[in-house]
Amino acid sequence: MARVYNFSAGPSMLPESVLNRAAEEMLDYNGTGQSVLEMSHRSKAYEPIIYGALDLFREVLNVPENYKIIFCQGGASTQFAAIPLNFLNGSGKADYVLSGQFSTKAYKEATKYGDIKVVASSKEQNFSCIPALDKANFTPDADYFYICQNNTIYGTRFTELPDTGNVPLIADVSSCFLSEPMDVSKYGVIYGGAQKNVAPAGLTVVIVREDLLGHARDYTPVMLDYKTLADNDSMYNTPPCYSIYMCKLVLEWIKNLGGLEALKLRNEKKAAILYNYLDGSEMFHNPVNPKDRSMMNVTFVTDSDELNAKFVKEAADAGFVNLKGHRSVGGMRASIYNAMPVEGVEKLVDFMSEFEKNN
Ligand SMILES: *Cc1c(COP(=O)(O)O)cnc(C)c1O
Repeated sequence: MARVYNFSAGPSMLPESVLNRAAEEMLDYNGTGQSVLEMSHRSKAYEPIIYGALDLFREVLNVPENYKIIFCQGGASTQFAAIPLNFLNGSGKADYVLSGQFSTKAYKEATKYGDIKVVASSKEQNFSCIPALDKANFTPDADYFYICQNNTIYGTRFTELPDTGNVPLIADVSSCFLSEPMDVSKYGVIYGGAQKNVAPAGLTVVIVREDLLGHARDYTPVMLDYKTLADNDSMYNTPPCYSIYMCKLVLEWIKNLGGLEALKLRNEKKAAILYNYLDGSEMFHNPVNPKDRSMMNVTFVTDSDELNAKFVKEAADAGFVNLKGHRSVGGMRASIYNAMPVEGVEKLVDFMSEFEKNN
């Protein structure tokens, strides 16, 4: 069996041990004679899977007691509407930082529901940096302040959180979820699609401070009302059962590795290998502001589109797949999420040096 190194931005690699475990349990989960894929979410056999996943999520990410963890569906993009519907409930105002495509989409969606202000944007820089924030621009009576913490497409991230005072900070963490420890208490809400770092597609995880729940607009679709989902232990309707099971296996894998502290060291090591090589290379370079570099998504370019295309093709032939950059930025991108082994990044860098020598 030949497995490739998959640098996809999402859905992305899962740990091999997790895939093996899922394969072993595929036909007969825990002596039940059925697959998790076939199980009722209300069955005795499924209960420990979903509650186990919720508990492990809380333990691994150190989520405080006054936060609810909600498993929902619809991807991160559905939350772009759910967030204003649930939280734009006081002044009807919110502040958004535009640091890439996903925050721009979230902003556009929110403008349907209230008075939304762009407090900073790096669009003029083609989102190659996190824009500078000036607190004087923040709306003091905003219902919330919104950021996308890691910009998957551009390869940037917030290394410091904005100081929003009493205004709840809401962050899209789709592409940096569980990549390092987070102080959840600094946020009102964090959320993300699971398909980058946490599980296969289908699951979206929302973590909400309890006091923010229960004020959704009355026309909020019931499936987007976080309180309904929280009150029903994420089983108001059929949850994405199998993705939740996979999420539990991934969380167990993280715990066995030593938790998020250990994972952070591993992720920092991978990113450093790649950025150090890029900084010394004469052919490839990383086009983003160095202080805003993402630990998860590393973008790089050569001076020629032809050479970029040649690199992507030859890399794929050598077993390094999905290195083509997002269609809106071109060039290359290596997404090095949790499941990418250090060895995958080392081998990619070897391949890149060899390519540089030959071209
Ligand atoms: C992938 C991604 C999204 C979109 O996620 P979907 O689950 O496809 O809706 C949103 N935000 C960020 C930061 C992402 O990386």
